[in-house]
Amino acid sequence: MAERRNTIQQEIVAQTLRQMHDHPTADAIYIEICNKHSSISRATVFRILNRMAEEGRILRISNAGGGDRFDYEIEKHYHVQCKKCGRISNVSMKKFPALEEEIECSYGYRIIGHTLLFEGICEECDKSVVENDTDAADC
Ligand SMILES: [Zn+2]
Ligand SMILES: [Zn+2]
Repeated sequence: MAERRNTIQQEIVAQTLRQMHDHPTADAIYIEICNKHSSISRATVFRILNRMAEEGRILRISNAGGGDRFDYEIEKHYHVQCKKCGRISNVSMKKFPALEEEIECSYGYRIIGHTLLFEGICEECDKSVVENDTDAADC
C-alpha cells in the first residue's frame, strides 16, 4: 500500500517537473505541486527529487548561489546561467567526449560524466542595464 502511494507521488513530481522548462528549484516544484495536490508534503517532494536525481532519472544542477535546480531533460546538454536574475537556460551543444578522454589519460580517473555551467548576463538583464543604467541592480 505504501509502495503504491510512493509510486503515485513520484509520478506527480515527475510530471510536474516535465511541464516546467525553466530548471526549477525544489521549492518551485513543491509550490507548483501544492496548487494541485495539497496532500504532498514539502519533505516528500524533496525526498523524491533527491532519489530521482540519484537514480539518474532527472538532472540536478548544483547551484552554489541558491537552491539546486532540477531538469527533466537528461539528454546530455550544458547550461548557461544569468548571474543577475539566476535563470538557467539549456545550451544544446553536444558534450565533448575528447575532453573526458583527456582527463582520463592525464589523471587516471575513469570519467563517468561532467557538467559545465556557463555564466553570463541574459538578454533581458542586459537590456535593462542599457535602458536604465542608473538602477542596474534592479534586475
Ligand atoms: Zn537575467
Ligand atoms: Zn537543462
